[in-house]
Amino acid sequence: MKCKKCSKTAVVHLRQHNAAYCKEHFFDYFERRVEKTIAEYSMFEKNDKILVAVSGGKDSMTLWYVLSKLGYKTDGLVIDVGTTNLQIDSLQEFAKGISSQLKFVDIKDYLDGFTAPQVARLIKRPTCSVCGNIRRYLMNKMAYENGYDVVATGHNLDDEVSFLLGNVLNWNMGYLHRQTPFMRRTHEKLVAKAKPLVWLTEKEIYIYALLNEIPFESERCPFSKDASSLKYKKALNDLEIDQPGTKLRFYKQFQRLEFFKDNTVQLRDCPLCGYPTTSEKCSFCRMKERVEDALGKQKN
Ligand code: AMP
Ligand code: ZN
Ligand code: ZN
Repeated sequence: MKCKKCSKTAVVHLRQHNAAYCKEHFFDYFERRVEKTIAEYSMFEKNDKILVAVSGGKDSMTLWYVLSKLGYKTDGLVIDVGTTNLQIDSLQEFAKGISSQLKFVDIKDYLDGFTAPQVARLIKRPTCSVCGNIRRYLMNKMAYENGYDVVATGHNLDDEVSFLLGNVLNWNMGYLHRQTPFMRRTHEKLVAKAKPLVWLTEKEIYIYALLNEIPFESERCPFSKDASSLKYKKALNDLEIDQPGTKLRFYKQFQRLEFFKDNTVQLRDCPLCGYPTTSEKCSFCRMKERVEDALGKQKN
């Protein structure tokens, strides 16, 4: 098969766009798509300070690399939640190679010395939701305290459509309202959140990472993802084989629904930590209280 842009042999065939590209033109396609997503949702501009949330996996490493290649001002933030072995030295080296800095946070410093799985066990909650809660809180806190304009995460099209399908099947309106590629800053202490890779599939990101020799960890979190989200991914992959473009259509049409545009909520300050919350206390502080309760019960 030949490249759509030149006559070289194609290295990748994208059925959803009915196009094949050589290495050079695939890079062009990929990078233009990231730029288009950033522009479509007015995510950020070249002089904004971006904190890329880095797990070490292919999506966030690619995001960090591509944003820096496109000339954005990025630093990386890695949060050690205690589920996988983070290769901090190689992340530092990668950061240096793209003239970025790596920030590192250990959640044990914020949770009385406990890791996310230990907290989950203590308060009898699923590890993924505890881990997600801690990560969201610390990403925002680190970004705010260090003067960043936006936190960028590596969520890809497959992540987004499987989440969307799950939420539609269960008519989970709260989650649907909040599922957006870009959440603008609605409070001084609530930094904007952006997902610049949402128009690219897992496969496209994987190929881009391999062709650019971007180092990444393949180790999956042992607690990762409930079985249903993997089933949704599989169902969507089956549909995509049958009808290429299904995932993109599903996601883009959802984003166009006016009904979901209004995601402003009433915020107040958490009396314990001062960060904004929709409840009386923020979910991070409530979790910390549950940990203290559980420890108190253990002592008695
Ligand atoms: P996940 O919820 O594991 O699918 O991750 C979604 C995104 O969150 C990733 O693409 C990263 O941008 C970010 N992320 C996940 N884990 C971490 C971590 N330990 N530290 C910093 N960012 C993370
Ligand atoms: Zn070409
Ligand atoms: Zn709080």
